[in-house]
Amino acid sequence: MSDRNSRGVNRFALLAFFILMLVMFWFANAIGQRESELSRSEFEWLVEKGDVNYVTVIQNRDVPTGRIEIGMKRTDDKEIKDKHMYVSDVNEIQSFLESKNVDFEVMDVPRESWLTTIVVPIGLTLLGIFLIFTLMNRQGGGANAKAMNFGKSRARLSTEKDKKITFEKVAGLQEEKEELEEIVDFLKSPKKYIQVGARIPKGVLLVGPPGTGKTLLAKAVAGEAGVPFFTISGSDFVEMFVGVGASRVRDLFEDAKKNAPCIIFIDEIDAVARSRGTGMGGGHDEREQTLNQLLVEMDGFGVNEGIIVMAATNRVDILDRAILRPGRFDRKVMVGRPDVRGREEILKVHAKGKPLSEEIDLKQIAQTTAGFTGADLENLLNEAAILAAKEERVYLKQEDIRKAFVKVGIGAEKKSRIISEKERKITAFHEAGHAILFHVLPDVGPVYSVSIIPTGGAGGYTMPLPENDDMFNTKGKMLQDITVALGGRVAEEEVFDDITTGASQDIKQATSVAKSMVTKFGMSEAVGLINYDSDNDEVFIGRDLAHTSRGYGESVATAIDREVKRIIDECYEKAKEIIREHSDVLHACSDLLLEKEKISREEFEALFRKEASEAADLPEREN
Ligand code: ADP
Ligand code: MG
Ligand code: ZN
Repeated sequence: MSDRNSRGVNRFALLAFFILMLVMFWFANAIGQRESELSRSEFEWLVEKGDVNYVTVIQNRDVPTGRIEIGMKRTDDKEIKDKHMYVSDVNEIQSFLESKNVDFEVMDVPRESWLTTIVVPIGLTLLGIFLIFTLMNRQGGGANAKAMNFGKSRARLSTEKDKKITFEKVAGLQEEKEELEEIVDFLKSPKKYIQVGARIPKGVLLVGPPGTGKTLLAKAVAGEAGVPFFTISGSDFVEMFVGVGASRVRDLFEDAKKNAPCIIFIDEIDAVARSRGTGMGGGHDEREQTLNQLLVEMDGFGVNEGIIVMAATNRVDILDRAILRPGRFDRKVMVGRPDVRGREEILKVHAKGKPLSEEIDLKQIAQTTAGFTGADLENLLNEAAILAAKEERVYLKQEDIRKAFVKVGIGAEKKSRIISEKERKITAFHEAGHAILFHVLPDVGPVYSVSIIPTGGAGGYTMPLPENDDMFNTKGKMLQDITVALGGRVAEEEVFDDITTGASQDIKQATSVAKSMVTKFGMSEAVGLINYDSDNDEVFIGRDLAHTSRGYGESVATAIDREVKRIIDECYEKAKEIIREHSDVLHACSDLLLEKEKISREEFEALFRKEASEAADLPEREN
């Protein structure tokens, strides 16, 4: 954001610089004029000396006043500047020159007024500056180019080259592409949908970490459908002047309407659509106005007008809720880091045009790059190619890849932290533990996907299907939530002798749920129906520290702690029991995770079906 602001400042700095130059030019000119201006006595003295060669008398029309330009005799090599003198009576000076035998010529000019001496040159200079700006603008070069274009949308229409991006160029991301297929089809033949009264989403939000191919996907949708692609970045909206962002949004949608069917792509939408009124990052009026305008525009066009607004963000959690309401960005597509197969495919795409030696095994590279995004992989191959080129080789060797690996790994330790086999295995069992509990417990789940692809801080994740918005949380469900959270740790304990620190987030979550049950929802008989939780929902990091007065005594505190511990312990036992009961699934699931890194709901549930059928075949082994 500050980057954009400084860009705004630069523009004005440039403008100010031009104006300053202009003023200095005028000063210099004025000083120069004064220096070369002669007094009458100086002029007469020069005439007497015979230094004057030639005089031009410039007579102002209709009035006696005028000016003379004095050309000097250049007797030596020294440069003598031509002088001038203002005269009050042109006729008098002419007779003087005649009497002294000086050659002269008379020019009759319209009277010079302040209008011609000041306004015209300034006007011309300004015109010049304006022309320079427009020229720069047309070429589209440099940040300053847009200086004269404050209110205009900076949306760029895709070029022919962009249009060639199709789904084929987007490797992996199979589910994501399938989800977007419908949008493509609508853009291709809207009639089909309109005829049956189908409502196509107006807004699609692509959510995922940087470099996972969100921009690429959006372009590919436009490419597949063969429609124009307007792209603008959220941070472009954040400008110095209030109202600029809003007018940009207006222009953008206007342009898009003229070109429908088309796609508007708003990159980094979180830059404008951060939730309002959190007080974080200052109450930015400009952002608020821009966001409002965006919402107005999105509500403004009809459902099937053929404009699809796509947006990308990696921070869906900070987005203003208003933007996610139905009729706006009501479709969310999660774009995750690629799994091992996805990585192999991405590597294949980017290996095109880069001859590889036979020893290079893309599959093996895919296996060792868990957590890499598409952009990381592209970067990896590119670095390898650069290394090969430096050695004047026309093909890439395994050694290049290895070196490139080290190179791109540095500075981004977290994502490229090479996951050891042991760590992967622990993560696989950990996530399998969560997944089993999600599946078995009735009020949670079902499992949507399980993954051991490292994301940010976590080694993996188990994602349940999106919850339905139940207004009330029940005691039973909260207990199951705690049980699921503990499942990761329990699974680790079942398989390995040692336990890891990987479950700290789970433990924190379980504790916080248990605590709320006791202190907030009156779900513990021992503590009773009293709220011991200060009702403070604000996000404030130092909250618990600052909270010195608890508002209750030691005995209550002890009772609360005891109850929290009891709840956790009971859930822990429950988790252990269930996981032991399904230990076949635990092992099968972790094996599958180690192989595929990410498994879907169907794949996961098949493991339970297999277990059930085996149990039916061999009932004696069940005991
Ligand atoms: P995002 O918008 O999610 O930050 P981009 O779409 O800009 O990421 O991706 C950056 C680059 O990484 C792309 O230009 C492409 O070269 C490469 N890339 C990312 N994901 C993929 C993918 N699934 N297939 C092929 N290339 C990819
Ligand atoms: Mg992007
Ligand atoms: Zn966990």
